[in-house]
Amino acid sequence: MALIAEKNIVVFVGGVGGAKLALGLQQVVAPEHLTTIVNTGDDFWHYGLRICPDIDTVLYTLSGRVDPINGWGLSDDSTIMLETLRSLGEDAWFTLRDKDLATHLLRTKMLREGYSLTDVVGHLAKVQGIQPTVLPMTDAEVPTIVNTVEHGELEFQSYFVQHRWQPTVKSLYFKNIDQATMTDSVRQAIQNADIILFAPSNPWLSIAPILSVPGMRDAIIARDVPRVAVTPIIQGKAVKGPAAKLMGELGYDVSPSSVAAYYEDVLTGFVYDIRDENVETYDLKTISFDTMMLTDEDKARLAREILIWLNEREFV
Ligand code: GDP
Repeated sequence: MALIAEKNIVVFVGGVGGAKLALGLQQVVAPEHLTTIVNTGDDFWHYGLRICPDIDTVLYTLSGRVDPINGWGLSDDSTIMLETLRSLGEDAWFTLRDKDLATHLLRTKMLREGYSLTDVVGHLAKVQGIQPTVLPMTDAEVPTIVNTVEHGELEFQSYFVQHRWQPTVKSLYFKNIDQATMTDSVRQAIQNADIILFAPSNPWLSIAPILSVPGMRDAIIARDVPRVAVTPIIQGKAVKGPAAKLMGELGYDVSPSSVAAYYEDVLTGFVYDIRDENVETYDLKTISFDTMMLTDEDKARLAREILIWLNEREFV
C-alpha cells in the first residue's frame, strides 16, 4: 500500500480503541512521520511492578504481537504465574500473563535504574521492531482516580478491572497532574505536527488525562493545523468499554455530538460514523466514514480516508 505524502502526523491514543487507529496509520504513513502519544493515567504499581496498560497495548499492537481476541496482552500467552499466585491465596484480579510479565519486569528495572518512562518506551518499541515514534504523555506518575457512588475513590484499574467498570462514576481526576510536565519529545512532536489526530479512544478516561498535562492543551491549540478526533460512539453506544455508560453518568447525552463538544476548541474537525446521521458539531469540519475497525484492512482504510480528506481540503 502506498504511503501518504510527507506530513508529520501526531495521534493521541488510549489503549485498545486508540491502538487500532495507530496501527492503521502505521500502515499508511512513513514511520519517520508518525508519532503516537499514549495515555498513562491508567498506569499503576502492582506487586512491585510498574504496569502501563495503554502503552503495552499500543506497543504489542504496533509490533503485531497483540492478543487478537482481547486486543490487549500478548498472543499465545499463558497464566501459570497468575494461577500460582491464586493458589497462594491471592485475589489476583489483574491479568498478568507469563510472557507479558517480562515487559513489566524490564520496565520496572529500567525505571529503578533511573531511566525515564520515555526512555523505557523508546527501548521497548525498538526491541519489538516498531519504527514509528511512541511516546508516553508524560514521565510523571499521574494516576486517574475515579470517584464512585458505591466505593468512593478508586484507582483506575480497580474501577476498570477489579470492579469491571460497574460502579457509578460521579467524577474523575488525575492525581498530581499539576506537578506533571510535558516532555521535550512530546513538545517537539506537537510543534512539528502537520496533522493532529485523536483516536476513537475514551475521551474522559484516555484523552482527558493527556489534555490535562500542564501545557498540553495550549500546545495543541497553538498549532494552526487540522486537529481532528474520531468518534468512539456509534449509534448511541461505545464499540467497547465504559464510554457510553460513563457519559450518561456524567450527565452527557450519549452521542458523537457530545464527544465533539467535550473536546471544545482542541478540535478543528471531527469524524463520525456512517451509521449515524445529522451529527451536530458547532463549527467543526465534519465527515462520516465507516469507523468500525474490525480487521487490519479496516484500520488502514480509515487512516487513509482521514488523511486523504485532510490532504485534499484546506482547513485548520
Ligand atoms: P482502552 O483504554 O483500552 O479502553 O481504549 P481506548 O480508550 O483507546 O478506546 C476505547 C474506546 O474505543 C471505546 O470508547 C470504544 O467505543 C472505542 N472503539 C473501540 N473500537 C473502535 C472502533 O473500531 N471504531 C470506533 N469508532 N471506536 C472504537
